[in-house]
Amino acid sequence: MPVNAWIAASDTEKINQALTRLRERGVPNSCPRCGHYSWIAELVAFHASPMPPSVRPSINIANVGSYIPALALTCRNCGSIFQHNLITLGLMENTTP
Ligand SMILES: [Zn+2]
Repeated sequence: MPVNAWIAASDTEKINQALTRLRERGVPNSCPRCGHYSWIAELVAFHASPMPPSVRPSINIANVGSYIPALALTCRNCGSIFQHNLITLGLMENTTP
């Protein structure tokens, strides 16, 4: 989805796009904690601060800025929460300078 189309899309369309990307990438639909298949899906942005260089791992961590846009999935049965980075899924651009 082009960036402008993403911005104009409704939250429901964005959630459906993110769920489609997860299916395309082989993410299982069942909860890994309890095995149920019923989820609450929400778009969230959680704040992140860059790690100080002294504790930064040697791997390249992209997409770390003032916030990380994500699809949050909460299992309706056990309450486990999983977050999927929308930049990594190719649905939003990384705006980190
Ligand atoms: Zn569960």
